[in-house]
Amino acid sequence: MDPIRHFLKSKSAIKLFPDACLRKTCHPILKFDASLAAAAERLQAVMARQKMGVGIAAPQLGLSLKMAVVDVRARVPEAARLVLINPEIIAHAGEQLSHEGCMSLPEYSGYLHRWTKVTVRYQDILGTEHVKEALGLEAVCIQHEIDHLNGILFFDRVIQLKTGMRPRDLREKS
Ligand SMILES: [Zn+2]
Repeated sequence: MDPIRHFLKSKSAIKLFPDACLRKTCHPILKFDASLAAAAERLQAVMARQKMGVGIAAPQLGLSLKMAVVDVRARVPEAARLVLINPEIIAHAGEQLSHEGCMSLPEYSGYLHRWTKVTVRYQDILGTEHVKEALGLEAVCIQHEIDHLNGILFFDRVIQLKTGMRPRDLREKS
């Protein structure tokens, strides 16, 4: 069966590390139809259930396709929701320290370096190509989600695994 139709028929649960689907390189999306739009809505709905969720990638729900949703509107009011299909970073500038967590690794957060500004080329749900520049939190989130599409998790980039990764409870109390 078509992976998207199979996905839409099954119940969506967030895949947790070390689930193998989080380590796969996702397949490009070639067909832009109603099922793809429905899958994007499903991603958005699961993300909206998470406190502090600002992004979600298809492999986090077991769908190994190059699609992610980035929605930082809760913290950056002027931002728009982005559905990124086949996204690729084509330029970047600067470096910032980023403190990240991930729904697939809910117990931990960590510090890592991300580019401050990225230019991302992607397709929307209809297949139309866009080029967008993003900064700050939105840029970080785009990098985090594109990493997911390539089987990379944020702790692969954590500066100091021994001291940089902390249980979330400790972080929230400090
Ligand atoms: Zn993540």
